[in-house]
Amino acid sequence: MIGAGIGGLTAAIALARAGLRVRVFEQAPALREVGAGIQLAPNATRILHRLGLADALARVAVKPARSELRRWDDGRVLWSQPLGAVIEERFGAPYYHLYRPDLLGVLADALPDGVLHLGRRVTAITERDDGVLVRLGDGSTARADVALGADGIHSTVRATLFGPESPRFSGSTAYRGLVPVERLAHLDLPRQGYAWLGPDRHFVHYYVAGARLMNFVAVCPGGDWRIESWSARGRLADALAEFAGFHPTVREIIRAADETHRWALYDRAPLPRWSAGRVTLMGDAAHPMLPFLAQGACQAIEDAATLARLLRDAPAAAVPELLARYETHRKPRATQVQQGSLENATTYHLPDGPAQEARDARYAALALEAPYAARGWLFEHDAEAAIP
Ligand SMILES: Cc1cc2nc3c(=O)[nH]c(=O)nc-3n(C[C@H](O)[C@H](O)[C@H](O)COP(=O)(O)OP(=O)(O)OC[C@H]3O[C@@H](n4cnc5c(N)ncnc54)[C@H](O)[C@@H]3O)c2cc1C
Repeated sequence: MIGAGIGGLTAAIALARAGLRVRVFEQAPALREVGAGIQLAPNATRILHRLGLADALARVAVKPARSELRRWDDGRVLWSQPLGAVIEERFGAPYYHLYRPDLLGVLADALPDGVLHLGRRVTAITERDDGVLVRLGDGSTARADVALGADGIHSTVRATLFGPESPRFSGSTAYRGLVPVERLAHLDLPRQGYAWLGPDRHFVHYYVAGARLMNFVAVCPGGDWRIESWSARGRLADALAEFAGFHPTVREIIRAADETHRWALYDRAPLPRWSAGRVTLMGDAAHPMLPFLAQGACQAIEDAATLARLLRDAPAAAVPELLARYETHRKPRATQVQQGSLENATTYHLPDGPAQEARDARYAALALEAPYAARGWLFEHDAEAAIP
């Protein structure tokens, strides 16, 4: 396994539970996720629960009561979806809002000893008759029957298999921040997810870390900002200027933050293939997507469960055929989620006018249908049960 992000760690746990001998090579000297929030939907949490992580997750997660799309200026609710107990009953697993370091901690604690190798950067992968040779930055090598590239959006494994790619700048940037909730107490915001949709931009916020922090993601035009890195800092004054005219709740949340990180959002066309022989890709390495359905990590977790199910009890000789099956099974769904996320880049950012009014009318009509008419296809999917 190359990479110990949410995808790689989940896959390592699932593969180890399936009886495989797993090694994870992670370039960073310590496990880290940027301090920010993440939403996990039932299609991902049912997998984490099956891995025995339900109690550990429940201890750190927030269960939001609902999620809402709202109009940017007057805050009118455009669309609303119940979460909380309703979604859990309907899909058999909860919807969670999590602080990323908490999620990473839950996953890391579930790893068997000796699996994780930190500070080990993979530089090349070569397929040989007897398996795969993984070359590391310190000059050492490791042999494996199968190699999984879970090395994220700038994947070395992807470049090794299919050559360098040219991502397309989406035109948008995301400011992200966390605010101690006592600074927002006067707003009396319930535990739920919000997305405020406005011209060329939208603002998402929800509680994380046992509701001690409010997480926000402010998506707006990117100008000449092209840095795609969690560690890059932005300026709160710039974020506030981008959301001038937005509802006071939005502006108060930005104002209450001490710092913000800024991430240029790139789009990548779906890859024609994910696998070659005994090597395949998963998570952002395979299907990077814009974050507008909150599903990138959820899809990585689905990949992990599928790989573990297919590779369980498999003889080494069967690996190439099983990786081909993994790709055939996972690629259509991940591509659909990539495309849905891309569509929301337009839908969420319509300028006020006829197209926005038509969108809002569609949202209103959806609200009259079953509560999960819009997103049920995402939530009901069971990546393991669906394997043909
Ligand atoms: C603003 C924003 C909001 C988002 N919100 C959500 C959300 O609410 N819900 C959701 O499901 N998804 C969300 N996502 C998407 C989600 O964050 C990603 O899809 C997910 O983190 C990808 O996980 P991964 O394990 O595939 O990759 P990564 O988390 O990128 O992990 C890759 C790992 O590989 C390591 N690595 C890289 N190269 C090498 C190498 N050569 N050798 C060894 N190690 C290497 C890296 O150090 C890293 O640890 C969001 C994304 C953004 C940008």
